[in-house]
Amino acid sequence: MVGSFLNVLIARLPLEKSIIWPSSRCFSCYQPIRLRDNIPIIGYLRLRGKCRNCGATFSARYLWIEVGTGVAFLALFALEVLANWQSIPAMKFDVLSAPSAIPPKQCIFLFCYHAFLLSCLIAAAAIDVEHRIIPPMIPYVGLVVGIVGGALMPWPWPNPTAMGIVNAPELPPGSPWSLSEFWGKIPVGVQMWPFYGPTFEFAPPGTIRLGLLNGIIGALAGSLVVRLVKGLFELGFGREAMGLGDADLLMMAGAFLGWQIAVLSLFLGAGAALVLKILTTIFMRSPAEPTTSPVGGEPMNRRELPFGPGLALGVVLTWFGWPWIGPGTQYIFFDGTIVALCVIVMCVVILAAGLLLRRSDTPEPAPAVKA
Ligand SMILES: [Zn+2]
Repeated sequence: MVGSFLNVLIARLPLEKSIIWPSSRCFSCYQPIRLRDNIPIIGYLRLRGKCRNCGATFSARYLWIEVGTGVAFLALFALEVLANWQSIPAMKFDVLSAPSAIPPKQCIFLFCYHAFLLSCLIAAAAIDVEHRIIPPMIPYVGLVVGIVGGALMPWPWPNPTAMGIVNAPELPPGSPWSLSEFWGKIPVGVQMWPFYGPTFEFAPPGTIRLGLLNGIIGALAGSLVVRLVKGLFELGFGREAMGLGDADLLMMAGAFLGWQIAVLSLFLGAGAALVLKILTTIFMRSPAEPTTSPVGGEPMNRRELPFGPGLALGVVLTWFGWPWIGPGTQYIFFDGTIVALCVIVMCVVILAAGLLLRRSDTPEPAPAVKA
């Protein structure tokens, strides 16, 4: 059902149509789709993707988004709730010994919060594939939900805290978390990590203030890292490479998952986008690229490649790879000096990459001479 709603978003948001009115209808004959034909997946299969009234074919995307969202939710539930993938100490819930047991309440909150992020990522990626834009409504609604949810479930929730101190004997208060003896010892919560550790006195663990700061800093970092990379790369490359929709997408992910995951997602996302590009080149006969978007004949060359799907995949990979990536990068994120050095090195490398690619790129056609 969520996938079905995402289909409505995907079909209507890029056209700036209302998503609640009118009800689902055929894009060709405008007849409302009957309730029984609108059942997710089954409705599509029973009519073989055709309108009952006029026989117009619906895009296979309707089916794949519904199936994909269902599978993604199932995988999220299996990993995060049943398998306790992030090893959240307070979420131990033994499904094998008591298969009929209801998962603890915090498992449901965690699932809903993260399922919301996953839905936004799916919708944004699908719209980006079709229209090469990410409508701001998705990341901004995601931003609000991410920050509010984070404030209500501040790190290390649902793990217990006592007087603003994390109840983790392996993590004595006041010790720098970048030290090797603390790698992998940070208790992961719904908000995976605090923005800095050891946490500051003005935002102790388990407080709304820490939750809010986590979300806001995550959102700012996600947005800024894309803008910084975009700015520097384009300075070197001399052409537009990314859209600001990508910055919004990472802003939303940062609000949910924290700044550390948002920043790493960009680099994993760039790799994922490259792999997706190679795979689609190999396995799909390249269809003639339309030069104008189906949306009102607007020029489509806002970006040469849709980066959104790769970026969304990067977020999911970083998120679920965190049991390995987190401990491996802890010495960077909790040491201000190393963070600053990394930012400088990253800036230089990206600027250099842009310059190098400009050189090896085919020369741009000479500008038309004015008569
Ligand atoms: Zn029709």
